[in-house]
Amino acid sequence: MRVRYEGGILVQDLLKEVILDPVRKTPGSVVSHGHMDHLTSGGIMTPQTLEVLKVRRGGTGHALPYGKEIELNGFRVVLKDAGHVFGSAMVRVDDLLYTGDFNPEGGATCGKARPEFVQSLIVDATYGRPGYNFPPKTDVESDLLNWLEMELASGPVALAGYEFGKSQELISLVNRLGVEVAVSDRIADLADIYVRHGIDLRYRRLSALAEGERKDPRAYILPPGWLRPPLDDSVSWLGAIGLRTAYVSGWCAMFDFTRRYGVDAQFPLSDHGDFEDVMDFIQACRPRRVYTAFSNAKELAKAVDRRLRIKSEALLTR
Ligand SMILES: [Zn+2]
Repeated sequence: MRVRYEGGILVQDLLKEVILDPVRKTPGSVVSHGHMDHLTSGGIMTPQTLEVLKVRRGGTGHALPYGKEIELNGFRVVLKDAGHVFGSAMVRVDDLLYTGDFNPEGGATCGKARPEFVQSLIVDATYGRPGYNFPPKTDVESDLLNWLEMELASGPVALAGYEFGKSQELISLVNRLGVEVAVSDRIADLADIYVRHGIDLRYRRLSALAEGERKDPRAYILPPGWLRPPLDDSVSWLGAIGLRTAYVSGWCAMFDFTRRYGVDAQFPLSDHGDFEDVMDFIQACRPRRVYTAFSNAKELAKAVDRRLRIKSEALLTR
């Protein structure tokens, strides 16, 4: 099999070819998950991702549930849980596996990515740089919940994370405290899909809060752009009652965003595996050949070559 990047991840075997995560609408392609840099119309995707597509971009595609094998352009194709966000999939194409964005540790609103034996592995290198490691997830979660409880004693608190995936993980986390959660309507529209699929998330829409309820103690989950001072118009009233804010992203393990985003705290909760997770995953798949994709592709390819002694190549993705 040959793999290269050409308007998406192009997998070829003799006369057969399939494109994974194409940059534009491509019938017969496969779409791994609902983040905007992967989400296009026209392809095959999990039923969950298809619903996310309809809410986020409009458009259509073909639903393929996890674990169900189909024939696509002469290949056998199966989707497996990627543990990254709700509905996210790794794509198996004959004896090749494309992880898409993935997380072997999984999350509260999705399963885990499990390694499998393959000849070729195309792997997400978002945090693929040696040293890019996160503290244990349970530590980050308890730090966040402790901070939240403490701050809630004196007023409202807002957490900000990416609108699809991170925000719904945060709803699930805050639900553990039994504190009321209010979210932006956009985050709620996406969370509604989770609920329709049986995931227990409890939240209220910001637009449904009555004027008289605004001073009640609660946690808010909002888009990061809304918290940068001055607060977005739709939540400006929170500024007057002493709102405390935090940004939540895996990148908080490497960079300080408190000043850049004007927030009070930050927590490194990630929906990707870190460098060591990714290396362990690659080793467990025992591939003959590895292709690395996205942010730190070159660094990861080098590490795989040197440390695991597996022939490895960085794909020049967009
Ligand atoms: Zn993603």
